Amino acid sequence: MKIKFLALSRTTDLEIKSQTNIDEIMSDFFLAFAKEIDYDNRKISIEQLQKNTSDLKIKINNIVQKYKSSAPQINQLNKYFGDLKDNEFFFIFVNSNLNNEQYFNLYNYLSALEDNKDFGVASKEMDDLFGKLRENYDIIAFDKNTRKKIGEPDKSKRVCRFCNKGSEEVTFKKIAHSISESLGNKKIITNDECDSCNEKFGSGIENDLILYLNLYRNFFSVKGKNGIPKLKGKNFQIYNNGEGKIEIKHFLNEEEENDPNFDNSKIQLETNQNIVFQNIYRTLAKYALSVIDKQSLNNFENTIRWINQEFDGEKLPKVAMLTSYDLFCNHPQLIIYKLKKDHDSLPHAVAEFRFTFLTFAFIIPFSSKDKIDYSNEEDFNNFWKFFKHYNSIKGWKFSKIDDTTPKKLKMILNF
Ligand SMILES: [Zn+2]
Repeated sequence: MKIKFLALSRTTDLEIKSQTNIDEIMSDFFLAFAKEIDYDNRKISIEQLQKNTSDLKIKINNIVQKYKSSAPQINQLNKYFGDLKDNEFFFIFVNSNLNNEQYFNLYNYLSALEDNKDFGVASKEMDDLFGKLRENYDIIAFDKNTRKKIGEPDKSKRVCRFCNKGSEEVTFKKIAHSISESLGNKKIITNDECDSCNEKFGSGIENDLILYLNLYRNFFSVKGKNGIPKLKGKNFQIYNNGEGKIEIKHFLNEEEENDPNFDNSKIQLETNQNIVFQNIYRTLAKYALSVIDKQSLNNFENTIRWINQEFDGEKLPKVAMLTSYDLFCNHPQLIIYKLKKDHDSLPHAVAEFRFTFLTFAFIIPFSSKDKIDYSNEEDFNNFWKFFKHYNSIKGWKFSKIDDTTPKKLKMILNF
């Protein structure tokens, strides 16, 4: 018996393996979640959407106390419901396998509920925002709940997505994180990325995005393999002790020191390393192609050549970027939108990458299915208008991320 609990704060699976008293455990368990009990017909009805009330927590604790010695797995229930907020909504599923799109919809439902919207209104709004989009696009979400590793499980049968080499030519010993581990990704893993590509991207294009996001990694205590990064630039040092204390040291240059009108509330931090901005876009597209279904890759041969730096993109579409605390996520996420049928003026594939309070929405460029490149204003705007759920949010910034000359990153901090 497998039970899944899904809430915005936490999702967990509980598997109760056959014990001598499984029937008794299960019936007690379902009684705790029951909405209606029909004693005459021995029927219990359970609603999938429930609330974490204090009453429920007491019932759960009783079950845990009663069965923890015969079914120790049940212990995790107290921890789970303790981790949820008081009165938080959650879904309960018994023996069902959810696909990514279902997860995505359920999470959207829960967010709407959290915003205190009426259930009917929320689902109507969802339809307005996503209806047309869903007719045209498959929407697949990847986040910390992505259950399976992506791609071929059998190492001997793997073919690398990015160099097309199989296990007779390359090795697949290392764990390839679909999104760089330095950005806090622990859960989304791609099987079919070979060790050489993994190393090449890790010491190459991925670094440009990571450097670009360094400040956020530090401020939001994002832990990579080596913990929270310490930042050191030409004129600054930033240290986050992981317990809510962030120390910023800024060193003035001679000119600033002698300037009586120097404005201390606005400081410009200069990094030591150079960034190639187009590589930021390459990396975003690489993340997307790490999770997309393998058959689709046939349409992205040129995209992969571009990601592999075989050529530079001269007419790239703009990348949209949003900072929003409402969309804050503790673990990086990817959403892929892929056209169901070919279309003349809609991009074949669009992706969304979320990291801390940043969201990037971008077209995966160079698909063989695309008739236009979306580099001109009008084509891009048509696409953007079609993605109504983006449109309805204010504050997006659009930039061409196509520069191929290495540049020092300058960040302005406002106090
Ligand atoms: Zn490879």
